Amino acid sequence: MISRRHWILLPAAAFLLRAEDKQSVRGRLRQDGAQPPAILTREGRVVELEADAPSTAVLRDARLKDEDFEAVGRFRAPSRFVVDPIHERALFVWRNGKRLVVTYWCDVCSIRAWSPGRCQCCQEEMRVDLRDPALGEMQLK
Ligand SMILES: [Zn+2]
Repeated sequence: MISRRHWILLPAAAFLLRAEDKQSVRGRLRQDGAQPPAILTREGRVVELEADAPSTAVLRDARLKDEDFEAVGRFRAPSRFVVDPIHERALFVWRNGKRLVVTYWCDVCSIRAWSPGRCQCCQEEMRVDLRDPALGEMQLK
């Protein structure tokens, strides 16, 4: 009976472990030529960021250079951070004490994207649109 009770508790324990796993790194977004994108923390540490291709495109977007930036994911080492995949919405800019999700928006077509590039509809370059996460994904301006 004891072992069965342990099995029942396992899913909850696994969930707690996952929740604890979430970490974030915040500081100035460094974009330095061929070097990997990185965050310069307030303590003066350089933390290099590893990310999937769409997230890397965000991290290399010149319009976000030197922003007060936060990435969610987990530390692989004290100076190396793995950013969560793009669909987890793990990239933020801080403005006036608010944490805003980095998104891209086409004013002509009212299309939102999570990575920079041309609008899939009109092919115009999409603009950076920092959004309050509380607004939800489908609400348009
Ligand atoms: Zn468009």
